[in-house]
Amino acid sequence: METHLAEWLQGTRDGDEAEAILRRCVHCGFCTATCPTYQLLGDELDGPRGRIYLIKQVVEGVKPTAATQLHLDRCLTCRNCETTCPSGVEYGRLIDIGRRLVDQQVERPAAQRAVRGLLQETLTRRWVFDPAMRVGQAVREVLPAALKAKVPARRSPGVWPTEVAGEAKAQRRVFLINGCVQPAMMPSIDAATARVLAAIGVNVSYAQESGCCGAIRHHLDDQNGALEDARRNVDAWFPALEAQAVEAIVVNASGCGAVVKEYGHWLADDVAYADRAQRVSAAVRDLGEFLATEVDRLGDLIGSSHSGKPTQGPKDAPSQRIAFHPPCTLQHGQKLGGVVEALLDRLMDRLAAVAAGADSKKAPVAKRVAFSESHLCCGSAGTYSVLQPEISAQLRDRKLANIDVSQPDLILSANIGCITHLQNGTVTPVRHWVEWLDGLIQSP
Ligand code: SF4
Ligand code: SF4
Repeated sequence: METHLAEWLQGTRDGDEAEAILRRCVHCGFCTATCPTYQLLGDELDGPRGRIYLIKQVVEGVKPTAATQLHLDRCLTCRNCETTCPSGVEYGRLIDIGRRLVDQQVERPAAQRAVRGLLQETLTRRWVFDPAMRVGQAVREVLPAALKAKVPARRSPGVWPTEVAGEAKAQRRVFLINGCVQPAMMPSIDAATARVLAAIGVNVSYAQESGCCGAIRHHLDDQNGALEDARRNVDAWFPALEAQAVEAIVVNASGCGAVVKEYGHWLADDVAYADRAQRVSAAVRDLGEFLATEVDRLGDLIGSSHSGKPTQGPKDAPSQRIAFHPPCTLQHGQKLGGVVEALLDRLMDRLAAVAAGADSKKAPVAKRVAFSESHLCCGSAGTYSVLQPEISAQLRDRKLANIDVSQPDLILSANIGCITHLQNGTVTPVRHWVEWLDGLIQSP
């Protein structure tokens, strides 16, 4: 798509990048068919092609309005359109630029500014968020429904594993992201991750001084704040990476993983950080990506935990039918669609083989069930469920209706936001997949 940049954007990083991305778009509209907001709202301007057109106008100098801002706000940044696009249009990067330019020219109403400011200041500071979440969880049952929906019931994290001793100690260590909301909302996820990694000989620790990945500030268009988060984390992680004291930064929240993998791009123009940020991004592994290379060892662990035992399954994972909801940040953002599904399928096959060996007449312990529209966003999308609650709830209900057709006993996912959001709409338990795997390994 030919674009004539406004004079004030010519020669800027945003202008050059927007122009290069726009040039790739041939306006075919294939992406529109898979856009969740277009499917719900039916307005071209609430689909990727329409939003691309709006951003093109802005970079060409047309003054944006509050309506422009609303259409861009309604985008979930799920990047489903990127997966669909045959021309390789990097929509995610374009919408970041578009939002930044629009927000510079269209002042938000005071109420919106207040909500966004509150989200930024509370969700990104653990010393504020952690105690507030603990109080919320303690009084959860008497909270108003709207608030209760944002406060997951507290589950015991269980015992954090002791360091892996011996030769492996010197060889294998990874960092986990010391994220802003997940450890407070569901400490069971990090603890399960540490136990599973310890079981294959990998020690886990948090880097001192690391913190929120920057996703929340980025979603709320506080670009400078997000860059500061990124720089702080690069400072915290890089020395251990350079010294080869850690082999990877493992991320068990796909939303955070997608963001940290962008640090190299975010800080490309920062002379002091560009190289280190690239190397940090290159060291990030989604937990599924990391464990996919360890599937045989995990299978052996399952074998040794369950061989010769009755086939009732591990006590923490009694379900027979399991649905896996792949977060958009995993399948579209990190392009890791199918990775966790393949890992789960291999492990379920192994469990079935062990069970068959114990008693050939008994059914497999667990089976992954497919469902329609697994490529579509569940409506969580970071702070989207707070800022666009109606669309978010409609997408959640649509997702759960599709999942329900398969009648699962358990829903698994890979991102704290999706897990909390889906759980608000169903009585079927929703868990991180590593909690299920941990139950499988730990419970004979
Ligand atoms: S973003 Fe891709 S799929 Fe969508 S209109 Fe442009 S070229 Fe077509
Ligand atoms: S990122 Fe998602 S919601 Fe936004 S335009 Fe693309 S498909 Fe639609």
